[in-house]
Parts: sequence; structure tokens; C-alpha cells
Amino acid sequence: LICWVALAPTIPDGRLLAVQVIVQGSVLNSTAVVVLLLRRRQKQLLRHMHAVSVTDALTGLPNRRHLEERAARLWSRAQHEDLLLAALVIDLDHFKQVNDQHGHAAGDELLRRVAAALRATVRADDLVARTGGEEFVVLTPVVTADPVVKLAERVRAAVSAVDGAARPTVSIGIALSRGPVSDPVDATWRLVDRADVALYEAKRRGRDRSVLLGPAESVPTQRRPDQQLTQ
Ligand code: GH3
Ligand code: MG
Ligand code: MG
Repeated sequence: LICWVALAPTIPDGRLLAVQVIVQGSVLNSTAVVVLLLRRRQKQLLRHMHAVSVTDALTGLPNRRHLEERAARLWSRAQHEDLLLAALVIDLDHFKQVNDQHGHAAGDELLRRVAAALRATVRADDLVARTGGEEFVVLTPVVTADPVVKLAERVRAAVSAVDGAARPTVSIGIALSRGPVSDPVDATWRLVDRADVALYEAKRRGRDRSVLLGPAESVPTQRRPDQQLTQ
């Protein structure tokens, strides 16, 4: 119709006008279809690029960016359900030796298997991310500390059952925090930092264990008396 209206004043011959309208209309329709297909493809590519940017290439687990993107939802869910948010920082023990003794490829394979074991051990809606070389973070909402400690022990058992170049063990630092929080990303890293303090303690006590850091408001540089470490 648009073609007809546009062309009618310049083409008096009715048959010629009909042919022109059909030709021009087809060109317009084809162009519209191509644009539509290109836009759909562009959306697919953007979705794919986003998925790649939030995924760790080696293990397929979420990466740090994904963790930050999920932070707001995790905190609001915890607050909505009156739960604590728990962070477990899980670090493979003496992993450098695996690389040194069995090679980097064997180390990579072990990391993949440990990642799969972690994913299989936590609940489907818990977040497991690879945050560093041989370091993983689990974020999970909980009612009390007790189930988190049990989860850490299940994680240790699952990792030690991983078959690979070496029998892996992990040290796990645990910290808990309660919302509300004004900056979910910052609050998440502060919680992870506190779990890191507990991880350091687990390493210090001999590795292959989990340590829970008591509730506290801020990341300690010097541990305060209320931040007791329990095993
Ligand atoms: P600790 O028990 O104190 O944690 O000792 P560790 O050897 O695990 O820790 P350290 O920080 O000394 O070494 C970490 C090693 O992890 C060194 C590095 O080569 C290795 N690593 C980091 N990222 C990767 C990776 O993507 N693939 C492989 N194969 N190794 C990695
Ligand atoms: Mg390590
Ligand atoms: Mg480490």
C-alpha cells in the first residue's frame, strides 16, 4: 500500500504501476525480514558473549564477574527469608606440587574434576565460582552455622574422592553474615575476605580441614576477640 501511494503519482500506467509496486514491495519486505533475522542473531551473539564473559573457561563454573552479578539476588533472598549468607572459600592444598610433579595439563584436569565435585555437592541454587587459580567460593543462604560446617565436610569428602593425578585435599574457610546490605557486591567481597581469614587459619592448622569464623561486622586486619575461630 505504501509503495502504491508513493509510486502512483509518477506511474500513470496501471499495469506498470502494479508491477513496480510488487517489485518495490518485495524488496522492502525482504529487507525487513533480513533486518529482523540480523537483530535476532545479534541478540543470540550478545547472549553468548555474556555467558562466556561470566564463565570460567577451564572449569565451566561461574567466574568472579558472575559472582558479582548474582550478589544482589543472593543478599535479597537471604534477607527476604531471614537467613544468613555463608561464604566458603575452598583452596586446594599444595596444588603447586601437582603441577610440578605431574605437569600443568594434569593440574588442569584435576581442577576440572574438583570443580565438578563441588558443583555436585552443593545445592542447585547455591553459587559455586572459581575465583582464582586453585581457589573456589561457595555462597549459600543458611539458617545457622551448623549446616555450613556440615556442607564444608561434605565438600572435603567429595574432593578427596576425586580421581586424578593426585589425591587432592582442600582447606576451607567459612564466614557468615546477615543483611541488609547497601552495596551487595562490596558486602560479598567483605564476607569472602572474612572467609579468607578462616582459610588462612585452616592452612596454618595443617590444611585438609575447615575453619569457621564467628559473626562480625567487618573484615579484621587484626582479629578481634569476638571473631573466634572454631573448627
Ligand atoms: P597451599 O596449600 O598453601 O594453598 O599451597 P598451593 O601450592 O596450593 O598454593 P600456591 O599459591 O603456592 O600455588 C598455587 C598453584 O596453583 C600455583 C599455580 O601454578 C597453580 N595454578 C593456578 N592456576 C592454575 C591453572 O589454571 N592450572 C594449573 N594447572 N595450575 C594452576
Ligand atoms: Mg592452594
Ligand atoms: Mg590459593
